[in-house]
Amino acid sequence: MHRYRMFIDGQFVDADDNWFDSYNPFTGQVWAQIAQGDADDVDLAVRAAHRSFNEGAWHDMSASQRGRLMHRLGDLIEREARRLAEIEVLDNGKLISEMESQLNYIPQWFYYFGGLADKIQGSVIPLDKKGYVNFTRREPLGVVAAITPWNSPLLLTAWKVAPALAAGCTLVLKPSEFTSASTLEFVRLFEEAGFPPGVINVVTGGKEVGAALIEHPLVDKIAFTGSDATGRVVNRAAADRFKHVSLELGGKSPNIVFDDAKLDDAVNGAISGIFAASGQTCIAGSRLLLQRSIHDEFMQRLLALAGTARLGDPLSAETQVGPITTRQQYDKVLSYIQIAQQEGARLRLGGGPASCGNGWFVQPTIFDRVDNRMRIAQEEVFGPVLAVIPFDDEQEAVAIANDSCYGLGAGVWTSDIGRAFRMSERIRSGTVWVNTYRAVSYMSPFGGYKQSGIGRENGMDAVDEYLQTKSIWINTGASTSNPFTIR
Ligand code: NAD
Repeated sequence: MHRYRMFIDGQFVDADDNWFDSYNPFTGQVWAQIAQGDADDVDLAVRAAHRSFNEGAWHDMSASQRGRLMHRLGDLIEREARRLAEIEVLDNGKLISEMESQLNYIPQWFYYFGGLADKIQGSVIPLDKKGYVNFTRREPLGVVAAITPWNSPLLLTAWKVAPALAAGCTLVLKPSEFTSASTLEFVRLFEEAGFPPGVINVVTGGKEVGAALIEHPLVDKIAFTGSDATGRVVNRAAADRFKHVSLELGGKSPNIVFDDAKLDDAVNGAISGIFAASGQTCIAGSRLLLQRSIHDEFMQRLLALAGTARLGDPLSAETQVGPITTRQQYDKVLSYIQIAQQEGARLRLGGGPASCGNGWFVQPTIFDRVDNRMRIAQEEVFGPVLAVIPFDDEQEAVAIANDSCYGLGAGVWTSDIGRAFRMSERIRSGTVWVNTYRAVSYMSPFGGYKQSGIGRENGMDAVDEYLQTKSIWINTGASTSNPFTIR
């Protein structure tokens, strides 16, 4: 049995012999134990991060030196990619092919944001007043609490850690209680890269640890990824304490296929949109909007291909669809399948548990003739369940796509360039993919409209989430004014 301890101020520490279990979703068995943190551990970690922010090696380092450390860290992640990917698979059951490509990609976040570290600059402001020089500094926010979910633990952690370090912040990470192991392995690399103690800390546990972090007076910013239900709680708690906050939340993304699309590409896009990662991605294309004129032909092709999905061991290169990460999520996905049937959606594929080892498998499931007002079209399932909704024209497609409390991603499949532009302008979501789906990059901003979140990760915008602007005024001595008036 593996045991993973927390990481505070450069040391691995346990928690008075309190541990909680981590399950392998493929076997349904406990494979590791994780130290159970509490408010005292949160306090130690936040104080370490606060010290490191305010004094010592990290505080004194130039931005270029910070960038070099980040580059070194990127190299170490590259070296350890396969090992870290395997740990992710044991914990979250996603396919090794996906986790390995994520891990091989993560170094780019540290190279890109490491390169950005010494290009963060303020500006000299041309003033309306004589006798002053005014300029701005872009300063780090301070201690960041990064709270993450279980679906892509290290990728989503990197989306926060890399820009935060580039800005000069320090961090306390709180990974999901279902997938903590990879984060605890990941932080080992910080020491090897040469980061001073306290720059990065990890406290493990459930929502009580997350809540203690948000409440801690020395935490300046909360960077959260998770469900909108938890995001609401986090946002409220942050508001009560006037903390900076960014939220990456859920989605119910429309994948829209027009009759002028290349249908084979669109079928592949629809399938990878919903069945990759067993639908457990925030950007899952969980609503498939099909133009009526191609509905029947498209459904035929879709069902034929989806029906061939190979379920199995996520560590095997042959497997196409893995298990659901947690028992709770498995029950939730099955309950939504029942809800959809009660609502009158027409089941065309799957529709229940799949027997595969002892793991938590759900059959790839497709419902047709879904009405966008149904719960199956409005609520995030976070599983391999697709809702197909027919439409007649562009106008109706936009209306259905935007009739959602979410706005994270959207796909448009068309050969008409004008339509591609019109649709991308009119859809209210943080990302629109045309003739592709699920592409992300460290260089391109990612985030949600509406209830899908606040703020942006990735790209140049991401570093702004960890900075604040200071305005500095210098009196050059040329100004003489009445001290009783506003200057
Ligand atoms: P979750 O909201 O249940 O948990 C996320 C994290 O918040 C966990 O670490 C959890 O321990 C912590 N948490 C729970 N309650 C808390 C509280 N009261 N205070 C502080 N922290 C608390 O989400 P999940 O089930 O782990 O992940 C799935 C969700 O994440 C889905 O809704 C999915 O769409 C979303 N997600 C969004 C993105 C994105 O970038 N937009 C990416 C991945 C996942």
